Amino acid sequence: MKNVISWQGDNLPMLEALSLPLWVFDIDHRRVFWANQAALEVWGADSLLELQSRDMSRDMSVSVAQRLNQYRQDFERDNAVFSESWTLYPKGQPRLLKVVFRGILVEGRMMMFCEAQNNLSVDPTTLRSAEALMHTSMLVTLYDSAGMVLYRNPSARAKVAYSSETWRQHFIHDGDWQALQQGIAATGEARQLAQVHTRQGMRWHEIAVRACRDGVSGQDALLVTEVDITDLKHAEARASFLANHDVLTGLPNRNGIRSELLPYLQQALRDGRQVALMFIDLDRFKNVNDSLGHASGDEMLIRMSGRLSQLLGHDEKVARLGGDEFLVMLAAPDVAERAETLGRRILQTLSMPMRLSGMDVSVSASIGISVCGEGRLDIERMMRHADLAMYAAKDAGRNNLMFFAPSLEERSQAQLALERDIRRGLDGGEFIAYFQPRVDVASGRIIGAEALARWQHPLRGVLMPDTFIPLCEDGGMVRELGRQILTQAARQQRQWRDRGLELMVSVNLSPSQFIDPALAGMVEQVLRDSGCQPDRLELEITESVLLGDDEQTMQTLQSLRALGVRIAVDDFGTGYSNLAYLQRYPLTSLKIDRSFVSDLERRPAIAEMITTLCRMMGLNMVAEGVETPQQLSWLAERGCQEYQGFLCSPALPSHLFAQLVL
Ligand code: C2E
Ligand code: CA
Ligand code: CA
Repeated sequence: MKNVISWQGDNLPMLEALSLPLWVFDIDHRRVFWANQAALEVWGADSLLELQSRDMSRDMSVSVAQRLNQYRQDFERDNAVFSESWTLYPKGQPRLLKVVFRGILVEGRMMMFCEAQNNLSVDPTTLRSAEALMHTSMLVTLYDSAGMVLYRNPSARAKVAYSSETWRQHFIHDGDWQALQQGIAATGEARQLAQVHTRQGMRWHEIAVRACRDGVSGQDALLVTEVDITDLKHAEARASFLANHDVLTGLPNRNGIRSELLPYLQQALRDGRQVALMFIDLDRFKNVNDSLGHASGDEMLIRMSGRLSQLLGHDEKVARLGGDEFLVMLAAPDVAERAETLGRRILQTLSMPMRLSGMDVSVSASIGISVCGEGRLDIERMMRHADLAMYAAKDAGRNNLMFFAPSLEERSQAQLALERDIRRGLDGGEFIAYFQPRVDVASGRIIGAEALARWQHPLRGVLMPDTFIPLCEDGGMVRELGRQILTQAARQQRQWRDRGLELMVSVNLSPSQFIDPALAGMVEQVLRDSGCQPDRLELEITESVLLGDDEQTMQTLQSLRALGVRIAVDDFGTGYSNLAYLQRYPLTSLKIDRSFVSDLERRPAIAEMITTLCRMMGLNMVAEGVETPQQLSWLAERGCQEYQGFLCSPALPSHLFAQLVL
């Protein structure tokens, strides 16, 4: 231990006489153990006794306390000696000193020997930047051009695997180092997500490096900053599993199957086979839930999925689409025949009684099948056809199997009529924004509202969005609808403000609005015409639009943010495959989908993960569909900022909403 010195009383007179301020700090007791005359002056102390009596832990920040413990470890492990600019606060006055620290053994205990080299001039900027560097949780390292370390800030020192580690040795995969070096050679800076060695073992760091000069020697150097994102990486892996699998049955869910569907079907067609999709829906499953309870309902779904899996050949796949709906995909040279045989066996097997809560229960199923023999593969169409066939099977008396036939599509004539009706309604101003309160979880105060579209139909009364939004999407009316609702919401925000209410408003954007190049211009126009405050407007987009074309998405988001409006990700948790976009895009809020909130008690995993994510990413978290005080307190405990839901109020026409807030 060449750098660690031992405390020997004989040396004292000499140290006392030095004009260099020297003191020994007792890390365990957070007190000065000894100081020479020059140090007493630095500390503004009358006597050694008075200085020793000061309890330094009193105004010591947590980070400084942690740092001291780490210093002790560094002394013990690496015989470390280091110098740092430290700010002391004798009698409350900041004093910046360059201090050299080394370990000293006093009666068998490791203490810290401090040697102040000079009194640095207290330029406030220097002082603050030195402080910032000392206290930031970001890891900052300066290497020379050969990759040897010149400086590490305390956070970096706390993490480094061993103190002489070089820039290159930091990496687990040399390729990451090479990629960064290439970036530096090309542009002088580079970024990379990489696995690195640390004192805690392998971690994921987001690394940024730029070429610079060492301020002391003037030589070329590399300034490296790192953030540990290991927790985010784990969350991402978990999220992707949760997003692609049904937690209850362990089968792939709608997302999970989507990624497999296309390759599976294409390969089969290339092999000269035909393919079929089979939609299976349990008949009157709701009765089971209602009469035997959710737990029995869940158990039935688990056992049904087991029965299904057992019937399938090795090349046939099953997924749970949601609720009591399953999808089977299969391929065969003559697939209709195979589908028919398999379908009949499924009907027979699923309807066999099973024992639940001490009762024998049996439930039948209905199956719809669509077939693609050759030619262009259109999955959406196949899914729609299987769905139509399944409903036809139900109409035909359940416990039944039906192939798709074009006659089933006649319904779409009715759809066309409805679309005409919608266009008429849009011209006539029949679409009205209702407002559902957004509530601050901590204070219970209403801080804004989400605008939700309602159709005040002259004959059919007030209609809900699920009866017209899908048709608007198909028929190309959703942009006009969106513009009308946005306009009403923006005007409403302005009116609230005129009445002295500082409320924000959020508005849903459909995916086809989002890809409309005229979107930002439209929003700007609406803001200008209405006098709505831009920072009080939040636009809600779904995750699916964030997974599309990076460049285009980024531009759209940036131009919206440039207007000053906020961006929320709606229905969060239902559609993602990776979370990288959360870091990349300028988002402000995440809205947890209602399904996770309603399932909190039984399956909190996803909601738990989303709360963690929001905290890590510094995003405002909004929970949707909160109906019970239990759900609210669960969310409050985890730091969720806002909620919406029937617990406070459903969406209301604006005059009724006003009664809530006035
Ligand atoms: P969303 O954006 O997820 O809106 C929340 C939906 O949950 C609303 O249904 C709301 O009434 C309902 N809700 C709120 N609190 C609770 C609760 O505590 N329990 C339950 N069970 N439900 C609750 P709504 O109004 O039927 O809207 C359905 C969807 O239609 C919306 O889902 C949104 O995606 C879409 N939508 C509504 N208005 C517009 C619009 O102006 N433009 C576009 N593009 N889409 C809209
Ligand atoms: Ca919404
Ligand atoms: Ca939502």
